[in-house]
Amino acid sequence: MKSIPEGSGSAVSESRPAPRLNRFSAHLRRRFGRALRKVPLDAGATCPNRDGTLSRAGCAFCNPRGSGTGLFAQGLTLARQWDRLRGPAPKHPGLAYLQAFSNTHGPAERLARILDELAALPGLAGLCIGTRPDCLDPEKLELLAAFRERLRGPGLPEPELWLELGLQSSHDATLARINRGHDAACFARAARAAADHGIPVCAHLVLGLPGEGLPHFLQTVDFVNGLPLAGVKLHNLYVAEATALAASWRAGQLPLPTREEYLAWLCALLPRLRPDLVIHRLAADPAPGELLAPAWAADKPETLRLLERMLEERDLRQGGGLPAA
Ligand code: SF4
Repeated sequence: MKSIPEGSGSAVSESRPAPRLNRFSAHLRRRFGRALRKVPLDAGATCPNRDGTLSRAGCAFCNPRGSGTGLFAQGLTLARQWDRLRGPAPKHPGLAYLQAFSNTHGPAERLARILDELAALPGLAGLCIGTRPDCLDPEKLELLAAFRERLRGPGLPEPELWLELGLQSSHDATLARINRGHDAACFARAARAAADHGIPVCAHLVLGLPGEGLPHFLQTVDFVNGLPLAGVKLHNLYVAEATALAASWRAGQLPLPTREEYLAWLCALLPRLRPDLVIHRLAADPAPGELLAPAWAADKPETLRLLERMLEERDLRQGGGLPAA
């Protein structure tokens, strides 16, 4: 998302056209009057699909680092990570992003301790917390809902709270193929339970999973549209080192989408996506050094630049349906 200036094509004013997409950057601007830095924090979480609770193999696309920074393993508390990654004396508030592994896995007391640490961070405007749909229960949802209340303060904007839940696909056969360890119904139950607690949920989706094509993605969009969600993250499938997919790819058994295919998929599904859903991500962000293929996945700015151009040329917008032929 770095090639498209934050808010590009998304500011609402009398002199500018209406945005084509409901982007997270624009959502934050509406709420806070400016872009907010999302600071990735590592709370030392693990995952039931890694620690043996469900399996030790993990999802087929996930490497053993689980998208983590590894700073927790280096002994850095959340407070020290926050100070280090935000930079010296930041003027503006930031969002904590618990991305690595499944951050609500384990006992509720663990989550409560993490939230206590986070609540003490200076300049914290909100939290994005990533997890699996089978790692939530009413007690944890109540802790998360209460956390947002703790961040409220006089004169401050409404705190941000996002529960980032992995779905990847609404097709159970695909979820089994990639060893997710849960089905789509599990995701739907978790999304509804979070909504009942007033917690906005962002669904993570992957386009290009083995055995899937455009009809599958469109069905997944319909599934997402039918749930009480507040946002989505879209990722192109890529192969990272030390994953199950890497072995399939090396064996020549894993077709990967070209950039042109991925852009064509986005142009087909974005007009079908509910316009109120905030889009947090439009393409994957491989960690430095982990990408094996496809090479184009390393240049996310170019993918976003091309997408913006295609949406413009074809007059497509989120939730707008497809233009008449
Ligand atoms: S649920 Fe997330 S952290 Fe766990 S194996 Fe799958 S992708 Fe990795």
